[in-house]
Amino acid sequence: MNNIDTSTNSTIAVIGTGNMGAPMAINLAAAGFNVNAFDIEKGKLQPLVEHGVTACHSHMEAIERADMILTMLPSGVEVTDVFCQHILNRAHTDTLLVDSSTIDLKTAQSLHREAALGGYAMIDAPVSGGTAGAESGNLTFMVGGEAASLDRATSVLEAMGAKTIHCGEGGMGQAAKMCNNLMLGIQMISVAEGYRLAQKTGLSEQTLYDVAANSSGNCAALTAFNPIPNLLPNTPSSRDYQPGFSNNLMLKDMKLALNAASQTETPLDIAPAATNLYQKFSDAGFGELDFSAIFNLHEKKQ
Ligand code: NAD
Repeated sequence: MNNIDTSTNSTIAVIGTGNMGAPMAINLAAAGFNVNAFDIEKGKLQPLVEHGVTACHSHMEAIERADMILTMLPSGVEVTDVFCQHILNRAHTDTLLVDSSTIDLKTAQSLHREAALGGYAMIDAPVSGGTAGAESGNLTFMVGGEAASLDRATSVLEAMGAKTIHCGEGGMGQAAKMCNNLMLGIQMISVAEGYRLAQKTGLSEQTLYDVAANSSGNCAALTAFNPIPNLLPNTPSSRDYQPGFSNNLMLKDMKLALNAASQTETPLDIAPAATNLYQKFSDAGFGELDFSAIFNLHEKKQ
């Protein structure tokens, strides 16, 4: 089966052009791919047209001549619906299926099985890097599926991302994303607690940063998402906690991890408590803030 690249005039169908899918579609068009996009919210398609993306009127119109279908949808529910109602048994079987949504492991594995039964090659390829990474074309793709399928998609993923990591068989991209974000979610709680204690003891925020960043407390929650406003440039906290990576998306990913832990009988000790804190913050109306705003959990009026 041919690789999907611009030299063969390949067409990519992008299904779901929200915060992530829209800039990904724009980057694909900028790289020279034919891009057919569809979203159930029609208003999300029109702004893409001036970037060379074709706005389609239905799932079918987007996928019928596609060499690859890229889904970028909210959750496993929508991905299952789109796969079962619009893709499987409708798209040509030589169309490569790539799901970049963040979805639960069980659904991802079941979609791989359904796709294989229908004769389709599929990879799960969830991303990290957020909307900034999607806009700048610097996403990291975590890929599950056969190496040969990943090879076919490589030049497409390179048009949207800076790094692609093959994580194993179908579903392992989702497993990698889930485990990584579980670690980040717990990290942020620990960084927030370290800073709270520092403030009460009189240790300066800058000093704690200088020490922790150069010793064993170092982590992405400290350096890339530091929760203290104006301590570091370019952190969400330094722009009033505008995401970044929203509390609601972190909560979604923590729940996916808890769900997988329950299905695999994995004992997780800290993750449930961390998830409760993100839930509490979201319930208090702060779900759209960056997840680092959890630092303020006890200051905000509940
Ligand atoms: P979003 O809600 O902005 O976009 C999803 C889009 O899918 C919406 O425009 C919606 O109208 C469309 N849609 C829903 N059902 C559909 C259907 N049946 N057919 C066609 N279109 C449909 O979400 P997003 O922020 O773009 O995130 C997409 C995925 O990427 C999610 O799984 C999310 O967890 C993951 N993700 C997001 C970020 C981020 O920072 N936003 C980072 C990493 C991963």
